[in-house]
Amino acid sequence: SSIMASENEAALSAVRSDSPTIFDKIINKEIPANIVFEDEKVLAFRDVAPQAPTHILIIPKLKDGLTGISNAEERHVEILGQLLYTAKLVAKQEGLEKGYRLVINDGPDGSQSVYHLHIHLLGGRQMNWPPG
Ligand code: C5P
Repeated sequence: SSIMASENEAALSAVRSDSPTIFDKIINKEIPANIVFEDEKVLAFRDVAPQAPTHILIIPKLKDGLTGISNAEERHVEILGQLLYTAKLVAKQEGLEKGYRLVINDGPDGSQSVYHLHIHLLGGRQMNWPPG
């Protein structure tokens, strides 16, 4: 689809950097987002270009150098666990009792387009394997 194509183009032109991203504006409520979960450290909101009936992004509020999973350090272990656990809570909240998929894209080969770590929660349809 054209959405997929433009998303891939965005990923190919994105560069890994620790600069603020659009997600900082979402965290700071400077731009609107459909937020489905929020606590002190984690935010979850609906993806603007959903690839499944449920498509939610789970992100750390404090990036702390986590441009992507490949930048993870020992100090990030706690927040990484909180992000995964939040994904489980949100999946339950969304009623995805038949299952779902969690995805972390990393770097150009992973088609990452936003350099602020995020877990994709996808569900509400049969997911295929292998992924594209
Ligand atoms: O893993 P990747 O970096 O490719 O994913 C970024 C995701 O952020 C995309 O699915 C894109 O649709 C989403 N996005 C969003 N809101 C924005 C910008 C990007 O939901 N304002």
